Amino acid sequence: MFRNTTLKITALYLSIIMLISLFFSFTIYQISVRELERGFRQEDRALRGAPPIRELITDDDFIETRQERLLEARQRIFGLLAYTNLVILGLGGGLSYVLARRTLKPIEESHEAQKRFTADASHELRTPLTAMQTEIEVALRDATLTKTEAKDLLKSNLEELAKLQTLSNNLLHLAQFGTNPDHKDILSIDVLLHSAVAKLKPLADKKKMKIQIQAAESHQVLGNKDRLEEMFVTLLDNAIKYSPIKTSVDVTVETRQKNLLIHIVDHGPGIKASEIPHIFDRFYRADISRTRDSTHGYGLGLAIAQSIAELHDGSISVRSELNKGSRFTVQLPAKLQE
Ligand code: ADP
Repeated sequence: MFRNTTLKITALYLSIIMLISLFFSFTIYQISVRELERGFRQEDRALRGAPPIRELITDDDFIETRQERLLEARQRIFGLLAYTNLVILGLGGGLSYVLARRTLKPIEESHEAQKRFTADASHELRTPLTAMQTEIEVALRDATLTKTEAKDLLKSNLEELAKLQTLSNNLLHLAQFGTNPDHKDILSIDVLLHSAVAKLKPLADKKKMKIQIQAAESHQVLGNKDRLEEMFVTLLDNAIKYSPIKTSVDVTVETRQKNLLIHIVDHGPGIKASEIPHIFDRFYRADISRTRDSTHGYGLGLAIAQSIAELHDGSISVRSELNKGSRFTVQLPAKLQE
C-alpha cells in the first residue's frame, strides 16, 4: 500500500519539478534566441555603414551563412537545455523519491503502531474470552456438574469479565486521549496524592505496606483532577503491586525551577536497565516471571500515565536498580501562587 503511494507522490513531486524546469528552459530559450537575433541585427546595422561591405552583406551567400549560424546557435541552445532537463529529470526523480519516503515515513510508522496496537489488543481480549468459553463448554458437557462447581465456574467467569472490563476501559482511555480538551483546575498535589493513596489502601493493607507522603500545600499544578489522580494511582499501584510485603513506598515532592518533581520510590524488585526504555510502551510487561503475580495488568498502565503527564506538559522518568527498588519521577509545570 505504502509502495504505491510512495511512487504516486514521487511522480507528483517530479511533475512539479519538471514543470518548473521546462517553464524556465522555454523562457531561457526564447530569451536567448531573441538576444541572438538582436545581436545579428546590430551587426547588420554596423556593417551597413561600411561601403565595401554593403555589397557583401546583401550577398545571398552571406545571408545564407548568417541563417545557418543562427540555426546552429538555436540548436546548440536547445541541445544544452534538453540535456540540462534530462539531468534534472534524473536528479529530480531521485530527490522526489527520497522526499516522498520522508513524507510518508511518520504516517507509515503510526500506521504500523496502530496495527501492532490492534493486534495486541485483540490478543489480550481473546485470551480471557477463550478461557471463559472453554470453561463453560466443559461445564455444559459435564452431566454431573454440582451446584458448587457451577458457582465456582461463575466466580471464575466473573474474574475474567472484570479483567475484560479493565482492559476495555484502558483501551477506551487511550483512544480518547487528545480528542477532547480536559477541564483543568488549580490542584494541590498533596490532595491528589492522598486521594490516590486512599483508593489503594485495601491493596496496601493486604500487603502490610506503608505509603508515606511528603508534600506541601504550596505544591500546586494546573490540571485535570481525574486524569492526574489516575496517573498517581497507576504509579502507586505498581509500586505496591510489584513490591514484597511489609515494605514501604515513599512519595516526596520537590520544586525545581518552574517544575514540580514528584518522586514515588519503592523497595521492590527493580527493573532491568534493558527493559526501562520499553516499560512505557503499550502492552509491555517487563520480565514476567520476576514481577508478575496474580494481580498483573495488561502493560497499559504506564503508557496511560505517560500520556496523562504529556497532556499536562510534563513527563515521567524512572531510575531503577535490580533487587533494590524503583524511583518513578513525575515532572509537571508548577502553578505558582499569586
Ligand atoms: P502492568 O499493567 O503490567 O503493571 P504497566 O504499564 O503499569 O503495566 O507497567 C509495565 C511494566 O513495568 C510492568 O509489567 C512491570 O514489569 C514494570 N513495572 C512498572 N512499575 C514497576 C515497579 N514499581 N517496580 C518494578 N517493575 C515495575
